[in-house]
Amino acid sequence: MLKENLRVVEETIKDACKKSNRKREDVTLIAVSKTKPVEMLKEAYDLGVRVFGENKVQELTDKYEALPKDIKWHMIGHLQRNKVKYIIDKVDLIHSVDSIRLAETIEKEAGKRGIIANILIEVNVGREESKFGLLPEELDTFIEKIADYKHIQVKGLMTIAPFVENSELNRAIFRSLRKLSVDIGNKNVDNVNVGVLSMGMTGDYSVAIEEGATMVRVGTGIFGDRDYARV
Ligand SMILES: *Cc1c(COP(=O)(O)O)cnc(C)c1O
Repeated sequence: MLKENLRVVEETIKDACKKSNRKREDVTLIAVSKTKPVEMLKEAYDLGVRVFGENKVQELTDKYEALPKDIKWHMIGHLQRNKVKYIIDKVDLIHSVDSIRLAETIEKEAGKRGIIANILIEVNVGREESKFGLLPEELDTFIEKIADYKHIQVKGLMTIAPFVENSELNRAIFRSLRKLSVDIGNKNVDNVNVGVLSMGMTGDYSVAIEEGATMVRVGTGIFGDRDYARV
């Protein structure tokens, strides 16, 4: 099942790249493995997957210990400040930085270890009450502050689009995130790059790629439905 799912996802990414005149290598597929057992991740690893996304600190660190060290782990879920220390030296990218206080903690923990943490700023483009992320109008102040941090490198923006039946309905959201990233890029702030646009999940990653996504986070499309009752 995994092999066939990966083939379909790969095919879909290629098609979306072709349709929008983009190169396949400009889009990174993040296999979102939350709630899935280590054996399933190992199976994906054996099929060539090297980038995994997790949304819980404990689960990420457990899987990190159990699986090969050439995996790139991405933290994609809401991160509590008191847990930053457990993942700071294990993850390649934190997608979900949504407050200056969290950024401050990341700066401190990265500083202690003498490393530079790569982060994305999560933006609540859809302005959903239930979602984390900065509102677009909060970005300027956030970026001004983060420019002083020596152990943080902003790599771009991330958004979680609303759940919709028709992925076309999220096109405007993806377009807005891209526009925000262009605006920020034009400001040329220290430590702030906007090359990465993390947007698009199983239901809408084609549209996200057409609108400029450089990272898509696909869970269900690769690993199948999640059974939260069993975790
Ligand atoms: C779970 C999750 C995904 C993957 O969702 P699917 O619809 O299963 O592809 C992507 N991004 C985030 C932040 C998630 O929490």
